[in-house]
Amino acid sequence: MASGDDDKSYWNATAEPTRFPQLKGDMEVDVAIIGGGIVGITTARLLKEMGKTVAVIEARRVGREVTGKSTAKMTSQHSIIYQTLERKFGEDRARLYGEAQERAIREMQRLATHYEVSADIEAMPAFCYTRDEKHVAEIEKEVEVTQRLGLPASLVRGDIGLPYDVLAAIRFDAQAQFHPTRYVAGLAETLPGDGSHVFENSRAVDWEPTRVVTDTGTVSAAIVVMATHLPLGQVGGYYAMAYPKAEPVIVAPIGRAPPGMYINAEQPSHSIRTHRGPDGKIYAIAAGQSFKPGHTDEERQNFADLERWLASFDAGPIAYRWVNEDYTSMDSAPFIGWSSSTRDGYLVATGFDAWGISNGTAAAMILADLATGKDGHPWLDVFDSTRIKPVAGGGEFVKENASVAAHLVAGYLSSKPKDYDALEPGQAAIMKIDGDNVAAFKDETGTVHAVSAVCSHMGCLVGWNETDRTWDCPCHGSRFELSGRVIHGPATRPLGSKITG
Ligand SMILES: Cc1cc2nc3c(=O)[nH]c(=O)nc-3n(C[C@H](O)[C@H](O)[C@H](O)COP(=O)(O)OP(=O)(O)OC[C@H]3O[C@@H](n4cnc5c(N)ncnc54)[C@H](O)[C@@H]3O)c2cc1C
Repeated sequence: MASGDDDKSYWNATAEPTRFPQLKGDMEVDVAIIGGGIVGITTARLLKEMGKTVAVIEARRVGREVTGKSTAKMTSQHSIIYQTLERKFGEDRARLYGEAQERAIREMQRLATHYEVSADIEAMPAFCYTRDEKHVAEIEKEVEVTQRLGLPASLVRGDIGLPYDVLAAIRFDAQAQFHPTRYVAGLAETLPGDGSHVFENSRAVDWEPTRVVTDTGTVSAAIVVMATHLPLGQVGGYYAMAYPKAEPVIVAPIGRAPPGMYINAEQPSHSIRTHRGPDGKIYAIAAGQSFKPGHTDEERQNFADLERWLASFDAGPIAYRWVNEDYTSMDSAPFIGWSSSTRDGYLVATGFDAWGISNGTAAAMILADLATGKDGHPWLDVFDSTRIKPVAGGGEFVKENASVAAHLVAGYLSSKPKDYDALEPGQAAIMKIDGDNVAAFKDETGTVHAVSAVCSHMGCLVGWNETDRTWDCPCHGSRFELSGRVIHGPATRPLGSKITG
């Protein structure tokens, strides 16, 4: 039975499929890039412009993972972030963060125009608002900080185009929204030729700083970029410095289309933007409150909350629903650059905190410069991936790692049945069978799909993602199909097999 189906995402379902070949045999290029999301494909495109040969090695299909499951806002308005960055990193580095996002948005527009990529890029203001008195001062402060940093911000109140009035909002002008799967696939189409390649269905299962190995071939290169969302395995220790958050996403036709992109400052979080679908209807793409991957009860609650909220936009029946994940770094800034301060490792980019469209493009701009020997990129002052200890991230770091320790021992029991017979059709559970932790799901025909519940990355117990029918690791964010096959790293090996019946 299929699970983790990429077409659950509205963006993936409304994009043409890509058909790049699988890597077969051995080859050599200047730069090997593992991962064909926005970071990998943009890095490849920029490197090719700089005269380098590249090979993108993508485990599944380009653009269809985290990027193709996002809400795809192109904005430097990242909810409440600049006052946090200013507090933790100082004014100059907070300014660099904003500059990187604004430049990245312009770079995406340049790439789409130059390569004639049809990605439905539309100019749109971005708002972060509150309806809660407790957050008004925070919004006002964010306006004050962002104006001082030179960002296109203003303070607005009352009617901002939503079905309800707000107490305060920050408005960023000259922002945009786009179709993420078409954008990444369109850029990828421009890569093959003149010694450069894109490979799909080619999962990296082993790696060295100058070589990438899949089950069907190898790519040797002077430099390897790990654009796999989180670096694979234990590279750079980022799995312990950035933690995964899952979010519910729903898509429905709406009668009251708001004229912007919106997110609120308080919890539960509600984010919305619109897109005209192939049938001419206006669809809302809405994301809700985050939860720990594999925590089924929170997943249910957060989807229900999001649906209730979306109803106020005169929403029709829900057409798509899926869960997407991103990593939050312990000090709020992404990690971009070399995985080791001695520069003998990999180029990496991670920890985008659900703002990796602009951050991911900025990352590609930095990585392309580093890969061509240009050192000292100014934006590294804020993003440097080798900063030893995340600045001021201590409390969060301890809390998250304690939670990982708990999942190594106990896991999250999403439901109670103790053996296969006790499972209802459509039900999943973690159970002990012959002393082993087993992740079992009984489908509607009564067939049980059972695999080891122990994540192949670092041994946490996986939990059930009811919407996508996948097993998701709460500790480091790996995701697996019902068969145990990897969907999303840092794991690269499947869950162990278990007898099914
Ligand atoms: C609900 C949600 C909404 C979001 N909305 C926004 C938004 O509106 N604006 C914004 O700026 N950001 C948004 N984000 C964040 C943004 O989508 C991500 O940060 C960004 O897309 C990450 O891009 P990436 O290239 O790092 O990862 P991906 O797009 O996941 O690309 C990584 C690729 O690497 C491949 N890969 C992994 N392991 C291997 C391997 N072993 N071998 C080969 N290939 C491998 C994967 O298959 C994948 O295709 C959102 C995130 C979430 C969770």
